[in-house]
Amino acid sequence: MPDAYNWQLGRKMHYPHREAHPRSQFAFVFNINRCIACQTCTMACKSTWTFSKGQEYMWWNNVETKPYGGYPQSWDVKLLAMLDAAHKKSNREATWNGSRAGGANAPYGTYDGMTIFEAARAADRRDEVAVGYEPTDEEWRSPNFYEDAATGSKDLRASHNLAPAMLPEHATWFFYMQRLCNHCTYPACLAACPRGAIYKRPEDGIVLIDQSRCRGYRKCVAQCPYKKPMFRSTTRVSEKCIACYPRIEGKDPLTEGEPMETRCMAACVGKIRLQGLVRIGEDGGWANDRDNPLYYLVKVEKVALPLYPQFGTEPNGYYIPPRWVPRPYLRQMFGPGADEAVEKYSRPSRELLAVLQLFRASQKIVFKYKIVEGKKVFETTIGGKKWEMYNDTVIGYGKNGKEVARVTVEEPKFERPAKHYNSI
Ligand code: SF4
Ligand code: SF4
Ligand code: SF4
Repeated sequence: MPDAYNWQLGRKMHYPHREAHPRSQFAFVFNINRCIACQTCTMACKSTWTFSKGQEYMWWNNVETKPYGGYPQSWDVKLLAMLDAAHKKSNREATWNGSRAGGANAPYGTYDGMTIFEAARAADRRDEVAVGYEPTDEEWRSPNFYEDAATGSKDLRASHNLAPAMLPEHATWFFYMQRLCNHCTYPACLAACPRGAIYKRPEDGIVLIDQSRCRGYRKCVAQCPYKKPMFRSTTRVSEKCIACYPRIEGKDPLTEGEPMETRCMAACVGKIRLQGLVRIGEDGGWANDRDNPLYYLVKVEKVALPLYPQFGTEPNGYYIPPRWVPRPYLRQMFGPGADEAVEKYSRPSRELLAVLQLFRASQKIVFKYKIVEGKKVFETTIGGKKWEMYNDTVIGYGKNGKEVARVTVEEPKFERPAKHYNSI
């Protein structure tokens, strides 16, 4: 069976298909710290793509509350338990070796445990390419179950915790987790499909289901660890997020041929989302593209991390982890890079602070950015160290090299004149 290099795991891994890569890859960064769970993203997707009969329970984009919430319910708890059981059975441990961390090809070290593909192979499961399960109708039914439900630390579960919420970790906590298909580099849905109905586009890495080939066997539903393909009972075939590909192709008249961010990204009220396309190099990894904001956030600053990298699909959705959540939980969810990412976000560098302003500054995809330095406007101490803020200007450029966004670190202030004190 062929092997494929997974840079998020820092090693080669088993994948049922030959390694192949697109020319560029659809990717996104979500800043969890900013999300207010308004569900505008969710409704933007629903009102565009899944408003028809048979799609009532279909939410290609959803926002769930962690640690209890999930759509479908408990999707990640179940997957982690299955992976855990597989490790126990094989007498192995799902550990990371940080001493081998380094460079763009192994930024978080090496994962020494088994991925969902390797766990299925170890169990000699001929009928499955990956460990997984098909959720029940009941599990799909309530996308917002446990919304805003917090948890206390283990020893305080039976009592109220009146300790003040202080960083670096809150004793009682929850956070919002925004999810859509990750358009994975090694999609489990694609590998699982016995009809060959799922494909990854060479131009942008978007993963699609060919509706005319699909026969509704639901293997993709069972084996996508993120549970993002969904079965439609009226057509009896599966459907999934299409990454709003007409917008990515620049077909929306609003952007005059320029690639445009997807519906769920562009609608984000909390300005937590930045989506784009990253260039893929000859070796299948991200080509060095220092001025691309996604490349900077993921590869240079390492402040944005993949969701459950240990699953092994190399997801292309990245998250800036919530600062207040216990670290063991974050390490389980985002891998060993969680500590560094939280530190970097809590005391942002001058460049990071500027790049964070690009989130939702434009509907057009930002391919490059440039920073023009401004004057110092603030000084404080964070974590016992001096921290300074500069009112820099960040400029974003679209695919054709034209400016699409210009934002300053300090938000501009407008004062109403006295004679219009009650109007804008
Ligand atoms: S629109 Fe943005 S802020 Fe609102 S729930 Fe979605 S991701 Fe969060
Ligand atoms: S998230 Fe799931 S559905 Fe999307 S590409 Fe990855 S494996 Fe396939
Ligand atoms: S990218 Fe488009 S299709 Fe996918 S979840 Fe967002 S709005 Fe829906």
